[in-house]
Amino acid sequence: MTENATTLMLFNSLTRQLEPFNPVHAGEARVYSCGPTVYNYPHIGNMRAYVFADVLGRTLSFKGYRLTHVINITDVGHLTDDADSGEDKMEKMAAERAQSIWDIAEHYKQAYWADVKALNIREPAHWTIATDYVPQMIEFAKGIAEKHCYELDSGLYFDVSTVADYGRLARAETTEGQSRIDPVPGKRNQLDFAIWRKTPPGETRQMEWDSPWGRGAPGWHLECSVMSGEVLGFPFDIHTGGIDHREIHHPCEIAQNQAHCCTNGLDVPANSGAQVWMHNNFLVERSGKMSKSSGEFLRLQLLIDKGYHPLAYRMMCLQAHYRSELEFSWEGLGAALTRLKRLSVAMSHHRSDPGNLEEARRLLSEMDANRELAEKWKSAVLREFDVAMSDDLNTPAALVVLEKVIGATKGLSSGWTIDTLMCALRIDEVLGLGLERLSRADLRIRPKSATITEAEIEAALARRQEARAAKDFATSDAIRDELTAQGVEVMDGDPLGWEWKLGD
Ligand code: AMP
Ligand code: ZN
Repeated sequence: MTENATTLMLFNSLTRQLEPFNPVHAGEARVYSCGPTVYNYPHIGNMRAYVFADVLGRTLSFKGYRLTHVINITDVGHLTDDADSGEDKMEKMAAERAQSIWDIAEHYKQAYWADVKALNIREPAHWTIATDYVPQMIEFAKGIAEKHCYELDSGLYFDVSTVADYGRLARAETTEGQSRIDPVPGKRNQLDFAIWRKTPPGETRQMEWDSPWGRGAPGWHLECSVMSGEVLGFPFDIHTGGIDHREIHHPCEIAQNQAHCCTNGLDVPANSGAQVWMHNNFLVERSGKMSKSSGEFLRLQLLIDKGYHPLAYRMMCLQAHYRSELEFSWEGLGAALTRLKRLSVAMSHHRSDPGNLEEARRLLSEMDANRELAEKWKSAVLREFDVAMSDDLNTPAALVVLEKVIGATKGLSSGWTIDTLMCALRIDEVLGLGLERLSRADLRIRPKSATITEAEIEAALARRQEARAAKDFATSDAIRDELTAQGVEVMDGDPLGWEWKLGD
């Protein structure tokens, strides 16, 4: 859309600076996001990475760029250590479960996609599945093998001393992440990494392919270099991932990309493959790093089972800047839910007139088709929103703008105009909170464990209302106590009229 003249500034981890977004291909934005390794369910920290990538993609669309977004699915090659030691995560899980890797990959891929949907993350243009790209990985490796790699008994290794400035993305002399690694006998440099792992003699893997370096499997870093280059072409615009990838995975990808581009005479700025590398900070638990194995495994489904709408978690993510660490707590999630309820209640007043919604939608699509019209429209509110999002995706500030649009008009139903509704809808196209559809009933806390039905609660509350109207407070209190005993908290004082919620 051209209603946005503000320059989009993004923080590039390569330079550790905010830089104006300057696409490789005019009017386009090509983005690659490191996707999940599908050996287990994603935790909500993992999902923060995709909410961030989604907000980035939506912002690029809002700014008028034609977006091509790729997210990969890693179903082979990711070892239990991000560098070169340990077992393949997929093989390990398959052995523990005595199941086929393909079944495991399919199960967890579907679970991940369910979370993607629940969090209103837009589908990327391409989901690339690592095992679909193995022939291309072998070709890529063949291209760089002679000048940049060497072979050991355990596989083909990339020699990091053959490229300029290895690890500039990580900045620190990060051997920290590597110190846990069992030394691989014969490695020339400590930071060298496997791009092809040979199956040890006498062993078979469920997933293995023939290659010039023997039967085996690709290295995890190789996968992302190949899939990003194949689908988006080098150089592309933006590569995203969690901050942990800034230390090992992405420096290794960059080294391979440099080698590949030099070998193939591609003129890539700094040869890093992508122009901008962006990283979201971690979601942490009070006790420290989020983990799938220790403590309560914080899956999105757990939040849902406890009664929280998944978009409350999206709201929680948006309340923090993506580069800040975010601490998860149930209180924090509750606060995000309340904030979302306020927005949803305000929106629902206006949505109750379907004519307005239709008209607003119609006008918005007219603007999408007509740049001049969009230019003329440019409401002050939308400019303010644009300024916030163009400031390295400042979602906390953008939420305040949205609240101002929706909440500034007192007496909601009477104060709204089509213009307000259009602004709210356009803003939500970027924030993705689903305000067009969410109702307050959707956002009630209702844990899976609750046995009482909503109809029963509603009936009890109606009886209680009658008793109160008749000033029969004894009956009213008795009904309230009965409900409390069944885990229903009656919220008389809630300013938004959230008349009840189910407790844990
Ligand atoms: P994985 O499936 O382990 O490859 O991780 C998927 C994505 O989640 C990667 O981009 C990671 O960098 C990111 N990630 C892992 N843990 C967290 C966390 N606690 N908070 C935010 N992002 C994370
Ligand atoms: Zn990756």
